Order: sequence, then C-alpha cells, then structure tokens
Amino acid sequence: MNSNNLNNKEQILKEQLRPEVKAISSYQGEEDDFEVKINLSENESPFDLPQEIKDKFKKEFDQHDINRYPEIYSERLHQTLADYLGGELDKEVSTEEVMVGNGSDEILDILIRCFVEPGDVVLSQAPTFSMYKYFTELNGGRYEELPLTEDFDYQNIKNKIDELDPRLIFFCSPNNPTGEVLEREMILKVAEYFTGPVLVDEAYADFNEIDLMPDVSDYPNLVVTRTFSKAFGLAGIRFGYLYGNQVLVEELKKVLKPYNLNSLTDILACLILENDDIIKERIKFIKKERQKLYQKLNQYQKWQLYPSMANFLYIAGEKTVEFKNILNQQGIKIRSFSGQPPAIRITIGSREENEAVLRAFAEFKEQN
Ligand code: PMP
Repeated sequence: MNSNNLNNKEQILKEQLRPEVKAISSYQGEEDDFEVKINLSENESPFDLPQEIKDKFKKEFDQHDINRYPEIYSERLHQTLADYLGGELDKEVSTEEVMVGNGSDEILDILIRCFVEPGDVVLSQAPTFSMYKYFTELNGGRYEELPLTEDFDYQNIKNKIDELDPRLIFFCSPNNPTGEVLEREMILKVAEYFTGPVLVDEAYADFNEIDLMPDVSDYPNLVVTRTFSKAFGLAGIRFGYLYGNQVLVEELKKVLKPYNLNSLTDILACLILENDDIIKERIKFIKKERQKLYQKLNQYQKWQLYPSMANFLYIAGEKTVEFKNILNQQGIKIRSFSGQPPAIRITIGSREENEAVLRAFAEFKEQN
C-alpha cells in the first residue's frame, strides 16, 4: 500500500471508533523533566516484599508449570482471601462474597459495565481518584460529582440522587488525593436510601482505623474494594478485590474475564495473605512517619494541610508549586494538582525518603 492510501486507511479506521473512545485520552502520569531518584507520586509502599516471602515464592514458582493457564477464576486465592477476611472481620466470609481483580481498577470497570448504560449517570465526589470518571466515560456514562466541601452530607447527596437518578455511586475513603475519611454513618444512610450499588473504594483503608467492611453484610447494595498495591506493597503484581453481597457478586463475576489473574499473582497474593504480620508492622511504621511529616510540614502557615488517614499527605496553597520545584530539583517526584489554590500530594516513603522531603522543606522555608 502506498503511503497516501495507508494514511487514508488509518484516518478511516479512527473515524469508525466508538464516540466514547474518540473522546477520551489514554491515562498519562505526570511527565518528568528531571531524573527521578525518589518516587513519592504513586502512593506505593516504600518496602519491597520481605526476602522470606520472595524465597517462598521462588520455591512455589519452581514447582509451577508456567506453560499451563492459571486457575480459571483464581479459586485458591478466592478461598485464601475469604478465610483471611473471615479472620479480620471475625465472621464467616464465603468465596461467593468476594471477587478478585487485576488491580482494583479492573473491578471498578466491571461494576460500571454491569450497571451503566450509555447516558446513565455515575455519581461521585470531587476531588477524587480519576479512574471513576475515566471508566464511566469510556463506557458511555455521564460522570457527575459533588464537591467535598462542608456541604458534602447526606441531605445533599440525597438531593443529587433525586435530581440525577444515578445508576451507581462511588465513594473513596480515605479519599485519594485528600486523605480524608468520609463519615461512615453518612455512607450507610446513602446505601439505605439508594437502590443501586454504593461502592466504597478503600484502597487506603489499611492505614485507617475505620472501614465499612463490617457493614457489607447488612446492606446488599454496599460493596467495598481494596487493593494490594498500597499497604501490602504489591503494586507490581496487580491485585485488588471486592467484598459484597453474594447475589451481586455472582452477577459481577459473569463479566469477569476467565484467567483475569496470572498464576504469579495468584501465588504471591496467597503468600502475602498467609504471612501478613510484616505488612501490619509496616503499616504501623507508615502511620508514625505520616504523623511526623504532618507535624513538620504543618509548620508553614500559608498551607492547608489535610489530616490524612492514608499513606500520603495533601497540601493546598499558593506556594506548593515552589515546594514541588525544590523537591523535583532533588530528584523527588510527587503529584501536583492545578486548581485554585494549587495542591500537591506526597506519598509517605521510607525514613530516608521522608528525611529527604524534610530537607527540601527546610530549603523551601528559607526561601519563602
Ligand atoms: N482506588 C484508588 C483510590 C487508588 O488511588 C488506586 C491507585 N492509585 C486504585 C483504586 C487502583 O489500585 P490498583 O492498583 O489496585 O488498580
């Protein structure tokens, strides 16, 4: 094909795309114009997997036939997870109440695909995790958000439900990027009033004292998602899960792709669930570091520092851009949010990484 015909054909192909695909851009992280030495932009754990678990993994891997497909629906992992949650919640949890995903992202997408038809509304909060909007729009839905201000309460959410007739509600608690926790009673009242699914994304709940897992059995439309990408330090294996009513979970599982998890994820996720003591220790460490960093960074009067129940801090204020620039000059990558005022989000890292942030902060204070 000559190059004119080729270009023409490419153009025609693009025109045939679904309008939702045409309208959307692929998810992009922030571009760096510096050499990243410390990455505090993605809320990952600063700790690699303990060597002891790596060794156990290597042993299992050696015995594994990688030429074979994984279990079709990760049956062993479902069982290990149900047992683990049963222990955590001190009650019987069955495999029918849990669903595992290739990251919790996959689960968010599945929930939308199961409930949202083109033009339907998905209601959420703002600011929050960008993938709710992305998946909603990709699936043809209309994304509506309520700002997380003092007015973010049951009455206003109820008014929005009455006005917009959403198919699905997303809450994120602790919220990304602000780190704040939504009031449990408010979410439960919404779940009581609303007939569609209320998803509480608890990607960061391991860093908090309160969560909604214990309430799931009382509300058939309340579902909670969790991820192993944060506190559990397994961002590299892409594992998340949902806990919810078994009638709903059964429907969601119809949409789950067979073999959605690869066998390495199956093995590692089981291993970490069976050896979670070290993770609990690490969570304690992160919480202590969070407290320390919060107290230090809160000394700058012109900033609004949000009390965070997650593994990051969110700071809003004019001079956050200057602070970000200093951090970047030292090779420290964080997230920034344009807006009025601009804001930044810094992941709590290892002790050395947090000390590097504080050194940059001292430099910032000297100049501002
Ligand atoms: N929910 C929230 C609130 C998140 O911040 C993230 C990751 N940044 C996810 C879900 C997705 O996590 P996973 O790695 O499990 O897909």
